[in-house]
Amino acid sequence: MNYFFDLIARRIADPDKIFIEAEGCDISYRQMLAASARYANALVAAGVAPGDRVAVQMEKSPAVLFIYLACLRAGAVFLPLNTAYTPHEVGYFLSDARPTVFVCDPDRAEAHAPAAREAEARVLTHGAEMDGALFARAAASADTFTNVAREKDDLAAILYTSGTTGRSKGAMLSHDNLASNALTLVDYWRFSPEDVLIHALPVYHTHGLFVATNCVLLANARMIFQPKFSAPHVVAAMKRGTVLMGVPTFYTRLLEEPGFTREACAHMRLFVSGSAPLLAETHRAFQERTGHAILERYGMTETNMSTSNPYDGDRIAGTVGLPLPGVSLRVVDPDSGVELPQGEIGMIEVSGPNVFRGYWLMPEKTAAEFRPDGFFITGDLGRIDANGYVQIVGRGKDLIISGGLNIYPKEVEGEIDALPGVVESAVIGLPDSDFGEAVVAVVVREKGAAIDDAAILAALAGRLAKFKQPKRIHFVDALPRNTMGKVQKNVLRETCA
Ligand code: ATP
Ligand code: MG
Repeated sequence: MNYFFDLIARRIADPDKIFIEAEGCDISYRQMLAASARYANALVAAGVAPGDRVAVQMEKSPAVLFIYLACLRAGAVFLPLNTAYTPHEVGYFLSDARPTVFVCDPDRAEAHAPAAREAEARVLTHGAEMDGALFARAAASADTFTNVAREKDDLAAILYTSGTTGRSKGAMLSHDNLASNALTLVDYWRFSPEDVLIHALPVYHTHGLFVATNCVLLANARMIFQPKFSAPHVVAAMKRGTVLMGVPTFYTRLLEEPGFTREACAHMRLFVSGSAPLLAETHRAFQERTGHAILERYGMTETNMSTSNPYDGDRIAGTVGLPLPGVSLRVVDPDSGVELPQGEIGMIEVSGPNVFRGYWLMPEKTAAEFRPDGFFITGDLGRIDANGYVQIVGRGKDLIISGGLNIYPKEVEGEIDALPGVVESAVIGLPDSDFGEAVVAVVVREKGAAIDDAAILAALAGRLAKFKQPKRIHFVDALPRNTMGKVQKNVLRETCA
């Protein structure tokens, strides 16, 4: 038995159904089975044994998904890397993960060769144009493969975290971590074989790789595969699409698109947002424009998805909804670990079959992030409201302690964002000799808006306690964001220091 792949294969009711619709080519489930078998054969022939890591840094293409599935089938551990990583950064991941094989674009093979040699990884090239050594080997391999036996707890993937708060950590995810979460989401979000998911996310991150792809696979549904997010292309796909999964920036960009109207999304049934906080204002503007309430959910590389707003029932702006079935979530005092009364802000902890097996080669860090009763300490601060909905208040690491008092950046950001002339803001703490940390606001103004720091401070004076008011305000054209739409506060802390 191969725990997760058998489940995927069992759920293919109609093998001739289209799985992926990519630029000019349709790939059926039958073709996916054949292609993943070819890649599995090619990887095994290249020396990949069960438990070995296969690192992949490839531009988005259906082949990445076939290699992911091939790893499942061969009992190997799939390890995708952000395409933006430089050879220096890739070097860190290869030396940390020690993959048997490293797959990269032919254009990058030379630049990556020294790091691969150092890590004793064999380089196999694969281009988005269906070229390279691995492509050729797979094409010449048999299209059937006897899946390697894998149990629930065997590793399926190591996914490195986004590195928003520090160095990326390798999260070890088991077959059951992926399977259980995907099954839950298919039910919770009502996926069916009739669904057509518009896939415009990267496939090296949990959102595009696991949430999006695994839901489609387990529903025997279809996806329209776009190389990257482009608002006009996504709008065009909505004529046939039913579901979009996006990061908040997808939704703000769609709202800037004149062709994005109620009629343009008449065929759509669901818009999901996650990976970064969706502004309540975006949620409201989207609902006004389209009639759809964006469904916001919360997850992380280590836990897959933990909470979601309901499919039926109220999708509340500014919340990430309720714990998913099978997931336990609590809010505790960060220091003592004691559960807090409902409504209070504290550390969010989760447990369930979704929670990862630990950080790769970091037993101490792993031990430090789990409570004795098995709950994982997410690092996110939040509260549970009277209806059981979870609100994320921010990252524990972003909490500002000024003069001994806690300041949640999100509260200050919310006040600044609400001012006329402000597009958005980020509030950070910077070292301060008097206060320990000083509250500093970084603000993006609307084009031509006259609002200045004095006006912002005056507006906040009546609304926030003195200790929460920014000591300084910086104006920038745009907040620095990574590819998943996450504001990089570590970058701001450096540039504003
Ligand atoms: P690192 O752990 O390396 O610092 P990261 O935490 O950004 O990076 P990911 O696993 O990609 O890496 O992101 C998970 C985090 O994203 C969560 O811990 C949470 O802070 C944030 N997040 C995800 N979904 C939401 C959401 N709907 N609202 C607010 N924050 C979210
Ligand atoms: Mg994290």
